[in-house]
Amino acid sequence: MKCSLLTPDRDPMGTAMADFYKNGRAAKLRVLSSQFEEDEIPVAQLFRTFDEMPPLEQEALRLANGKILDCGAGSGCHALALQDMGKDVEAIDISPRSVEVMQQRGVKHAYCINLFDDNFLTKYDTILMLMNGSGIIGKLENMGMFFAKMKQLLNPGGCIYMDSSDLRYLFEDEDGSFLIDLAGGYYGEIDFRMQYKQVKGAPFDWLYVDFQTLSYYASENGFKAELLQEGEHYYYLACLTLL
Ligand code: SAH
Repeated sequence: MKCSLLTPDRDPMGTAMADFYKNGRAAKLRVLSSQFEEDEIPVAQLFRTFDEMPPLEQEALRLANGKILDCGAGSGCHALALQDMGKDVEAIDISPRSVEVMQQRGVKHAYCINLFDDNFLTKYDTILMLMNGSGIIGKLENMGMFFAKMKQLLNPGGCIYMDSSDLRYLFEDEDGSFLIDLAGGYYGEIDFRMQYKQVKGAPFDWLYVDFQTLSYYASENGFKAELLQEGEHYYYLACLTLL
């Protein structure tokens, strides 16, 4: 698992966010994958306000307490909403451009840090991983490392709020039967690459995990997973606490 930071010349999403923040609009942020057709991320969505957030995200923000970490914070939409609620939040991201945008937007504590950096050892009561936040784990094989990191960062009684879609809806037939290639890896392990204008990012792994699989890995690693809310496309919010 790499735990480096992005450089501005290979940071398409951060460049798109910087453009959007400066000009109020952005070009197409392209998402490429060997497994799917090309897609795009509407850049405005990365700047959503509390009222524009899906109910699951709003619920995670309401539940967040004590010292909060917004992990993979992007433009800082959750961090800003938490600050408005008077909560104590720090935001980290591997994208230097997005950290700049967060600072310009008024996020008081925004840092360019990789979650998995061994030197990152601050303690938190709440860790937020939102907008398919399980993605940062990359692959199922990194679950052990992820939970070990969470043990280092969480105060006693602390909690991680994580959301994900279960990609099974992409493989389901209309009659509800479920077609996946069992010889392949886990169906939620996706490789992505992003491009914004001429800025091409390196490929990266992104993990969508169904709740049952998440619960299994949580219990293997001394955590308990609780399902808090569900939305469409098997989208859910989970709370992970130390056993
Ligand atoms: N949470 C934001 C952004 C989601 S996009 C929102 O909901 O709008 C995911 C973000 O995670 C990107 O900005 C990416 O740069 C960041 N990221 C990816 N891997 C990371 C890691 N290991 N540590 C910290 N941030 C990471």
